[in-house]
Amino acid sequence: MTDNATTVNRCYCGCQTTVGYGRTFAPGHDKIAEAAFLAAHHHSSVAELLKSQGYGPDNPVTDAAVKAGAWKQCEHCEYKGAPESIRNHMAKVQKAESNQRESLEKSLRALGGTWDPSRGMQTLRDAGFHPSEKYIREVYRRLADDGLLEKIDENRAIYFVTEQ
Ligand SMILES: [Zn+2]
Ligand SMILES: [Zn+2]
Repeated sequence: MTDNATTVNRCYCGCQTTVGYGRTFAPGHDKIAEAAFLAAHHHSSVAELLKSQGYGPDNPVTDAAVKAGAWKQCEHCEYKGAPESIRNHMAKVQKAESNQRESLEKSLRALGGTWDPSRGMQTLRDAGFHPSEKYIREVYRRLADDGLLEKIDENRAIYFVTEQ
């Protein structure tokens, strides 16, 4: 145990390279160690490694990462990733959503008339988006709050464009 200090200062892949304080690997050697570990214990197969821990299609390791609090899931879809990846992903989602909203609002103003969810969906599909009906309803509700749309059917999401 007396050489503990020197032990932590040598690369963990075993190459005997001295590494800086607080480091465990020489640059890139974590990948070498990972590959060696998989070769030694799991026939170089990530699938085997996962299986050995009970993970697979029915017990996704990505769910485990979320449950452990290390990863997060997107609020809008099934996407899971490290917090940094989620931030990038969410920025893209929000950009796409505001583009869709602007596109739909422009069409409403340009065309006027009566709009139900399927007309909104078709309009956005023609513009190259893939909106859900729920999303269209949300946008309609928000535009109704803003006064651009007026709900003309008590029970269904049918709106009339009030201004152009
Ligand atoms: Zn090394
Ligand atoms: Zn998402």
